[in-house]
Amino acid sequence: MKGVTDQKHCKALLQESLSGGSNRVRCLLCPHRCEIDEGSLGRCRVRQNIEGVLYALSYGAVSSLALDPIEKKPFTQFHPGSFILSAGSFGCNLGCKFCQNHEISQHSVPDPDSGLFGMLSPDELAFRAMSFKDRGNIGVAYTYNEPFVNYEFMLETAQLVRTADMLNAVVTNGYVSTDALEGILPFIDAVNIDLKAFSDSFYRYVCGGSLAPVQHSIAFIAEHYPRCHMEITTLVIPGLNSSENEIKEIARWLSTFSPEIPLHLTRHHPAWKMTSPEPIEPYELNMLAQTAREFLRNVYVGNV
Ligand code: SF4
Repeated sequence: MKGVTDQKHCKALLQESLSGGSNRVRCLLCPHRCEIDEGSLGRCRVRQNIEGVLYALSYGAVSSLALDPIEKKPFTQFHPGSFILSAGSFGCNLGCKFCQNHEISQHSVPDPDSGLFGMLSPDELAFRAMSFKDRGNIGVAYTYNEPFVNYEFMLETAQLVRTADMLNAVVTNGYVSTDALEGILPFIDAVNIDLKAFSDSFYRYVCGGSLAPVQHSIAFIAEHYPRCHMEITTLVIPGLNSSENEIKEIARWLSTFSPEIPLHLTRHHPAWKMTSPEPIEPYELNMLAQTAREFLRNVYVGNV
């Protein structure tokens, strides 16, 4: 199994040295492709260049652990009524101004004495998942912060969970490289991808990313991993991504892969750097859902 064994010494996968004898490295995990000076962190804050080698600082650092209903992820058509052991860590490669989980997503791993996280090995997390089977647990969900920035831990855990005949689910922003997807998707049973908007300007100015890589991830999974169950979530923010035309375009585009793809239109609440606007009215969200149903059979509203 790839990866190393403790938080301080987990060498990152998907990295390359940059020429010039400067000890700079490039991370190949996500489309940012950060070029990182010795001693510095990547944009996600959890991958650090130490003496010319990139390390995953968040390996085994678990900020949140809960046995959640599967519908909370959200998944509506993947083992409905079951529970899934949900684990989060620290860091994110986007910086969405409305992030509800910014306390963990927009920070590096805190001091070990802070009491803000616990350490678990992949074996320990997989064992906990098994021990919750009698409470309806079907496996492990990698969620709360962006799980791909904790790639090595997720990959090792997912392999163990699969070996234990349980399931792996990933809740992600989809802003990830093809290499990273190819490495882990053989072990993943379900993904929920945030399609935050259908405009590059939204991704650029609100999230610090871009739309095309997220579209690529959705298309890649639909085309190359049809056995991986996929649901999509769009958090609707009035005035930013709430036009009928934008929701229609999202639904129309998703339907080119399958009209069965579940789409969750969820109501945002002011958070972190985005204290306005007020949440969309539920009847408006329902109208947008009706629009999406012109193209998709399974459209759900959430947070209402
Ligand atoms: S995963 Fe982190 S370090 Fe790697 S390219 Fe993305 S933001 Fe940069």
